[in-house]
This record gives sequence, structure tokens and C-alpha cells, in this order.
Amino acid sequence: MHKRKILAMSPRKPIYEGKAKQLFEGPEPGTLIQHFKDDATAFNNQKKGTIAGKGVLNNRISEYLMLRLHEIGVPTHFIRTLNMREQLIKSVQIVPLEVIVRNVAAGSFAKRFGVKEGKDLGQPLIEYCYKNDALGDPFVSEEHIFAFHWATPQEVDEIRMYALRINDFLSGLFMGVGIRLVDFKLEFGRLAEGDRDQVILADEISPDNCRLWDVKTGKKLDKDRFRQDLGQVEDAYQEVARRLGVLPPEESHVIAVDARPPRQKK
Ligand code: UDP
Repeated sequence: MHKRKILAMSPRKPIYEGKAKQLFEGPEPGTLIQHFKDDATAFNNQKKGTIAGKGVLNNRISEYLMLRLHEIGVPTHFIRTLNMREQLIKSVQIVPLEVIVRNVAAGSFAKRFGVKEGKDLGQPLIEYCYKNDALGDPFVSEEHIFAFHWATPQEVDEIRMYALRINDFLSGLFMGVGIRLVDFKLEFGRLAEGDRDQVILADEISPDNCRLWDVKTGKKLDKDRFRQDLGQVEDAYQEVARRLGVLPPEESHVIAVDARPPRQKK
């Protein structure tokens, strides 16, 4: 009798494990697979949890926004969506900066400067943090960036220009669906092009790293619902996807059945 060979699929090992995402080797050189998890953290990892279906939604939202940005000439790492939770991206050398763009005072900014949350800043404001969890992502100036060689003056110029263009475009795009883009965080990477490195947009753009408030009601539709225990966290992510038109009705059903915790009987 022939013994049937069982070909066990070896589990893929991530080459990078982040808080909300994993990176796997891509099918071609120069590519990676970005996998979106449901895990959520806040306050430098002090608060941990999961947001059911978040990975699926962020994959779609980020794909949509990266494609729209590509259309207006912002180079991004996005290549194509592979499945519900994964997208193929260009492998880049990440610039170790969190680039934060703010239109309205909120979060740590409101606290730091004693400004009331919700105050319009009049003009977009860009801040940089050094991407280093162990140090708590400290706030840095351009002087620090150059002194530590995290990026060249030319790269910082490009990053600023892209950040402002992205802010203008996304503010309008979100306003069109009744959402105020309060602030957001971007990350950029270097891609070798000929004899020069090009700076391109990397990471993700989703309610995990944007503050999004409903224009009419002021309701928070982003990760602050998780950070501040406001409830209806999954609903907020779904609402953003629905308004952007990236949540087809049958999909919302799948997420509802598949990923939501069972309702507790009252
Ligand atoms: N942000 C992020 N990752 C971080 C820190 C901030 O995505 O590690 C985003 C956050 O979601 C918000 C913006 O950047 O949209 C500004 O965040 P802030 O500096 O106010 O920090 P927070 O109050 O969220 O700690």
C-alpha cells in the first residue's frame, strides 16, 4: 500500500513583525508582502487589544488612498492587493521618521501646547518624530534629522512637499465624504533609482494613523475610539471604508459574520 505523502506547508516567517502589520518576503526581488493584522496598540504599547476586521478594512482603505495619491503623482510603495489582508509593496529603506501633519489640534499636540481639542490650526503644521519605540518616538527638529543623518536636507524638502500635497488632497477627498481630516502620520522610504535614491510614500494610510471626525456630528471615526475606550471601534473603521466606497455590501456581511465577536445577550 502506498503511503500518501503529506506535504506540510511550512508556515511563512515574517521578516518584520510590527504592531499592526507583518512583512513577508515578496514573490519577486525588490518586493514585500504587507499583511494587515487586527491587533491594535496605543500609548507606546501600554494598551493592547484587537479590533475585529480592522486588518481587512485597513488593507482596502490604504489601497484606495495610495492609488488615488499615485494618480496625482505621489510615488508610493503600493503595487497591488493580493488578498483580503495582504498587499504587494515595493521594498524600501525606511526613513526613520514619523511625519505628522496636523490641521486641527488633537491628541498629544493639544496636551503639549494646552490648546483645546478641535481648534483649527489655520495652516497645516508638520512635525517629525524619530521612529524608535524604545525611546518613545521622540519629537525632533530638522537639525536632529541632519545631525543624525536620518535624512538629507534634499530628502526632507521632498518629504515636506509630499506631506503637504498629500494633506491637501486627502483633506478634500475626506471632506467630500463628510469627514474632517484632523491629523495623520506618514512614513517614507528610499528606493534606488539609477544612481539616485528616490523618496516614496510607504507604510499605510488608514484610521489607525489618521484622526478622522464626522463633519456634522464631530464623531471620531478612527483609532481614538480604541485609545479612549469610546466603543463602536469596528463600526467606525467600517464607516470610513463605506463612505470611501471600498466596502461592498456583501463584504460588510462577511466581516460582520466572520470577524466580529458574538453579541452579548443583555
Ligand atoms: N500617530 C501614529 N502613530 C504614532 C503616533 C501618532 O499613527 O506612533 C498618528 C495618530 O493616529 C494621529 C497623528 O499621528 O493621527 C498625531 O498623533 P499624536 O502626535 O497626537 O499622538 P497621540 O495623541 O495619538 O499619541
